[in-house]
Amino acid sequence: MPDATLPGVHHVTALSGDAQDNLDFYAGVLGLHRVKTTVNFDDPTTHHLYYGDATGRPGTVLTFFPWPQAANGRPGAGMAQAVAFAVPNGSLADWRVRLADRGIDVEAGERLGDPFLHVSGPDGLKIELVPTPDSADAAPWTDGPVPPNLAIRGFHAPTLPVFADDRTVELFTDVFGWSRSGTDGDRLRVQGPGTGVGTAVDLLVRDRHPSGRMGQGTVHHVAFRAPDADAQATWQAALRERGLQVSDVKDRQYFQAIYFRDPDWTSGLLFEIATEGPGVLIDEPEADLGANLQLPSWLEDRRDELERILPSLTPPT
Ligand code: ZN
Repeated sequence: MPDATLPGVHHVTALSGDAQDNLDFYAGVLGLHRVKTTVNFDDPTTHHLYYGDATGRPGTVLTFFPWPQAANGRPGAGMAQAVAFAVPNGSLADWRVRLADRGIDVEAGERLGDPFLHVSGPDGLKIELVPTPDSADAAPWTDGPVPPNLAIRGFHAPTLPVFADDRTVELFTDVFGWSRSGTDGDRLRVQGPGTGVGTAVDLLVRDRHPSGRMGQGTVHHVAFRAPDADAQATWQAALRERGLQVSDVKDRQYFQAIYFRDPDWTSGLLFEIATEGPGVLIDEPEADLGANLQLPSWLEDRRDELERILPSLTPPT
C-alpha cells in the first residue's frame, strides 16, 4: 500500500440539463449551498456549478456540468448509479413531507439495516437521503431554505456498479487501504480512513451490469481526496506502478486533479484524486460563495464574452 492516505470522497460530478432547473432543485429543494459558479474549464462556454455544505468542504461537494443540448442519459456500467447524502438521524419523516409538498415523488428503501429515501433530480439523477449520526464538525448551510435540523451534512456512500471479475474491489481494499464495513446482498460497503461525512462508497458487485449512456442525469466521475499535492503524487506513482493509465496533474483552481479509468481496475468508472486544498474560498469570501461567476486567471480575459453566452441564473426563492 502506498505511503499516503485517501481519506474519502472529495466530490462527485454529474451532467444535467438546464442550469436554472438544476439550481432550483439542488439549492432550492435540497438546500445545498451553491458554493461556486464557474465554467467547465474544458468547455468554458458552459457552466460548472458546485453545491456543498456551508463552505463547500471536500466530502460534501456535488458539481454539475449543465448540458441543455445533450440527450437524457441512462445509468449503467461505468457510471455511479446514485448519489447518497447524509441527513440527521430522525429527519426522514420531515424530508418526506418537504419533498411531497413540492410535488416530488419519494420512495423509501432500506439497506445495510438503515432506512433511506430515494428521489430523482430534475434530470433523473438518483439522489438518496440516508439518516446518519452527526459528526462533530458538521457544518451544513444554515442560510438556506432547509432548517438546520434537516439540512444535508455531506455525502453518504455513492453506489458504484462493479464487475465481479475485475480488480475494483481490490483497488479499494488493497491499494487504497479502505476496509470492508458491511454487505447487503451484492452490495459491499468500503470505508476510507477519514472522519466525518463522505468517507464510504458502496460497490454493487455483479457479474453483469447493463450498459449505460452518458447524458443528462448521469454521474460523470467520482473524486477521492488526497490531503495534499505530495500525497496525490504518491497515489499517481502507485497507480502507474500497477499499470493504470493516470493523467498528469490538472489545475482545477480549487484543487489539483488526476484522473484514471481502467477496464480492469475501475470497472470502467472514471475516478479522480483531488487535493483537499486550496478549496472554494480561494477566490471569494464565505458570504459571497456562489453568487458571482468566478473564472480562473487564464479565462479572465474572456469574461465579457462568457458572461454574454452563459445563461443568467436567479437564486431560488
Ligand atoms: Zn472532478
